[in-house]
Amino acid sequence: MPAARFVRRATKHLAVGADRLRPPGRGITVLIYHRVGGGTASEVDLPVEVFDEQLVHLCQRGPVLSLDDALVALDAPPGSGPDPVVVTFDDGTADFVDVALPVLERHRVPVTLYLASGFIDDARSFPGGAQPCSWASLRDALATGLVTVGSHTHRHRLLDRLPTADLIDELDRSIDRIGAELGDVPRHFAYPKALAPQPGGDAQVRARFASAAVAGSRPNGYGITDPYRLARTPIQVSDGMRFFRAKAAGGMAAEDWGRSLLNRRRYAGAAT
Ligand SMILES: [Zn+2]
Repeated sequence: MPAARFVRRATKHLAVGADRLRPPGRGITVLIYHRVGGGTASEVDLPVEVFDEQLVHLCQRGPVLSLDDALVALDAPPGSGPDPVVVTFDDGTADFVDVALPVLERHRVPVTLYLASGFIDDARSFPGGAQPCSWASLRDALATGLVTVGSHTHRHRLLDRLPTADLIDELDRSIDRIGAELGDVPRHFAYPKALAPQPGGDAQVRARFASAAVAGSRPNGYGITDPYRLARTPIQVSDGMRFFRAKAAGGMAAEDWGRSLLNRRRYAGAAT
């Protein structure tokens, strides 16, 4: 879709300019990846070399924390060094285990994987055709000591438009399945498509998890962040290294304007 590509490019340049006028504040930036080395033309399917170079940059610029450590750090005043970043992945595609994890291991970078457990159960492809990973491969992934598994609902339903009973079922099923297969109750949650829920759904998420991630390309400020509204910065192929560096430093907030414009059209009437 050339119009989408144009809006995307234009907003990236605009966002860098906006950062120059109003630099991002202090805080912890949570990055969101979807796929690495999946071999598709998707904007969220990064070539493995690019992902590797991005991790090199992250390790050189400052601490890369697990999500649990980041939540502790968010409760304290900012340190004197560079602000930490957190690396997260969504969905649970096979390329996370096969391609991304070996690179994360090489750099000893901790990662949180938000799993849509129903796709793993059914060995069903994700929208866009990505193959899911298996429970067995996830057990191996956990054995690296680098991976935290969170919930991303069971069927990747969009919670902002779901009746509360169905929403509860989505949350509890994912918790039960992850617990049964991986022996660990997921402590963290990410909303599918980063869409924040209605107040009723929000209360259900708060009752079950220690944190929840939504959209927002910005650092999460120390002492002021609601852990159930963690802002996550999406990484795209067209970021390359230039825009990636800006995002890792907590910048590119203005990119959200273009994205929310596109997403409003893209997700209208969708269920997953
Ligand atoms: Zn997702």
